[in-house]
Amino acid sequence: MTGNEVKKYDLIIVGGGVSGTAILYALSKYSNLKSVCIIEKYAGFGRVNSSHNMNSQTLHFGDIETNYTFEKAKNVKLYADMVKHFLEHEKLINTSEKIFSKYSKMVLAVGSQQVQVLRERFKTFGTLFPNLREIEKDEIGKMEPRVLEGRDPKQELFALVTEDGYTVDFGRLSRTFVDHAKKLNPDISIHLSTKLEKIEDLKTHYRIQTNKGIFESEAVVIASGGHSIKIAKSLGYGKKYSILSMAGSFYTSHKVLNGKVYTMQEEKLPFAAIHGDPEVHNANLTRFGPTAKAIFLLERYNYSSFFEYLSVFGFNFRTVISLLNIVSDTVILKYLLHNFLYDMPFIGKRAFLKEIRKIVPKIKLDEIHYAKHVGGTRPQIINNETKKLEMGEAKLIGRNIIFNITPSPGASTCLGNAFADSKKLMEFFEGKFSFDSEAFEKDLVNTQG
Ligand SMILES: Cc1cc2nc3c(=O)[nH]c(=O)nc-3n(C[C@H](O)[C@H](O)[C@H](O)COP(=O)(O)OP(=O)(O)OC[C@H]3O[C@@H](n4cnc5c(N)ncnc54)[C@H](O)[C@@H]3O)c2cc1C
Repeated sequence: MTGNEVKKYDLIIVGGGVSGTAILYALSKYSNLKSVCIIEKYAGFGRVNSSHNMNSQTLHFGDIETNYTFEKAKNVKLYADMVKHFLEHEKLINTSEKIFSKYSKMVLAVGSQQVQVLRERFKTFGTLFPNLREIEKDEIGKMEPRVLEGRDPKQELFALVTEDGYTVDFGRLSRTFVDHAKKLNPDISIHLSTKLEKIEDLKTHYRIQTNKGIFESEAVVIASGGHSIKIAKSLGYGKKYSILSMAGSFYTSHKVLNGKVYTMQEEKLPFAAIHGDPEVHNANLTRFGPTAKAIFLLERYNYSSFFEYLSVFGFNFRTVISLLNIVSDTVILKYLLHNFLYDMPFIGKRAFLKEIRKIVPKIKLDEIHYAKHVGGTRPQIINNETKKLEMGEAKLIGRNIIFNITPSPGASTCLGNAFADSKKLMEFFEGKFSFDSEAFEKDLVNTQG
């Protein structure tokens, strides 16, 4: 095939993070769609937000995320369980590649007000998570001695804990999905170092212009993180959305925690609360974070994404009004201002130490270090109609095209998202191909793993 030849497929997936590769895997295993192509701008899969260096590595179920409503937790659990079942099965069949580590996981309530809220929350959320237990101060101290060490003995403490704490290398998970997909469907066409530069809807099919030539397909899935909204807008979709690009940074220390310890999050904030936990491939390293700082890049550390961000943000009257509305909430404003400090030299470390001390009261300044080049950015969606920040992921559906925009917990929900997209794609193809939902559910939903 020469470089000038147009490459034609039934489906093109754009983006090789955990979302795009999960769709590739789901279709390869459970559908008879063969002519599938995936294009990724970097030379490997899972290198942007899905990389283990870029996110908190947590498989979020909704049990210790106190900003989730019951309904949200129910949905996230359904999807996270799919990843859990996949991981447990993978561990049995592939012992050489470690994709995850399992630790205990707790959410810690400090002070009488938080304790009361968490106890109350357990009454309903406990029904959804049978492995979640209430523990009091003594047991917290046994599990996590440094959480108790040096703490004011009069301070009320209470926690919900579970042994189901999955710390996942979502980058490696992306590559595992691709490895399986290649074996299941040798016809898959993989194009790395290939960047979508322009997409056109020619009504009978899509034409994608890349640095490696022209690609065409009947249907398209855009799974490009924050870039998905940019691509959607170029086709006239998602005009009511803007993006706040919320970078998350981390501080690390030598091992001070045995498992994951989360703090309680404000309900109105769409970010995971600050937590401390062991690194997925090194239990002797504790990571604290993530922070949440608005940046003007669509992809962190990639300065060429500055102009891309500006085009997505769309500095217009509606967006500015939405922003003003969002920051008029003092809780959000305070949170954003605080988080702005954490990346600053000298004062950032000292300011963040205060947050860490809510978890490990006696940790010293010289025990923590700013983790350089660690932490990606979350494309947090602003809805210019409601003038509010939206919680979690968004999906836009167009003519034979799906756009996935994936802030946290987008990695935890990758297989659930792949399931939804696979079914939608079958509608696009109007019976030409089929997807075996039952087999998917048998393997990844209705299974004991
Ligand atoms: C600080 C932080 C902490 C987080 N913690 C968690 C957590 O603990 N648990 C959790 O579930 N989620 C977490 N998330 C969210 C999670 O990382 C993302 O939701 C997830 O990785 C999104 O996967 P993705 O495949 O959609 O996007 P990405 O991993 O960003 O992949 C998108 C891919 O598209 C490619 N791409 C972009 N544009 C183009 C183009 N024009 N042409 C070709 N390819 C293109 C990119 O190179 C990239 O490989 C966190 C995120 C951050 C930033």
